[in-house]
Amino acid sequence: MTMRIDVLTLFPEMFESPLGYSILKRAQQQNIVTIALSNIRDFATDKYRKVDDTPYGGGPGMVMMCPPVFACLEHVRSQAPEPGRVILLTPQGRPLSQPKVEALSAERRLILIAGRYEGFDERIRQGLDAEEISIGDYVLSGGELPAMVLIDAVVRLLGGALGDEDSAADDSFAGGLLEYPHYTRPEEFRRMRVPEILLSGDHGKIARWRHEQRLRRTQQRRPDLYANWLKRTEADNAIPKTRNNENQEIDT
Ligand code: SAM
Repeated sequence: MTMRIDVLTLFPEMFESPLGYSILKRAQQQNIVTIALSNIRDFATDKYRKVDDTPYGGGPGMVMMCPPVFACLEHVRSQAPEPGRVILLTPQGRPLSQPKVEALSAERRLILIAGRYEGFDERIRQGLDAEEISIGDYVLSGGELPAMVLIDAVVRLLGGALGDEDSAADDSFAGGLLEYPHYTRPEEFRRMRVPEILLSGDHGKIARWRHEQRLRRTQQRRPDLYANWLKRTEADNAIPKTRNNENQEIDT
């Protein structure tokens, strides 16, 4: 099943290069994903193709107007049967995370709206009933780069997008841990040696070493992730309590 991703933007040309290389290019060629770009300016209603205006109440900057965004979305929606999940890229949205990316990769259609200027007229948020996603606690000039980040993260999880199907399974954040360290030839470089265990050919030992490395790295670099992983692992390993006829937990 091909996923469809629509992007509504004032700068569709910005997407050409990132979508034209490597995994994203291949995924489109192999019909794993279709990415359709729409220019919000094409839906402006006046002869100057205006898409922004000054804020009510005064203040600096320009605000993205409702009519072109609503008209563009309505047009885009009519291009495919699935209504799609509408996402506004904004710094005020929920921070993007790997579990969120995994959830989005299960959707059939995503519709991403990239803002510019001071951002969207508030009624775009209200009227579209859209989900807001941020790519981090910093402010960029536009939603195009965040949309590209989201597309890249989602598409690489789609079946067949990666050459080696397993390579996403051990990636950082998969299963809540960071990935183990990698090494390739030469065995020694500037007196830094590849750990002996990786040269041993003992796959069981290598798998255990890698798992320990994942734990150690996560604990050192991301104690927040590690604490969550521990909590989840403890909950998964907890022995389920037996319940009596009144549905009360009893020790056995
Ligand atoms: N005035 C807005 C605020 O303070 O919340 C910021 C507007 S920003 C200059 C313009 C556009 O860039 C936003 O509408 C949004 O689409 C995008 N953008 C900026 N930072 C972002 C982030 N961290 N995540 C997602 N989108 C972002």
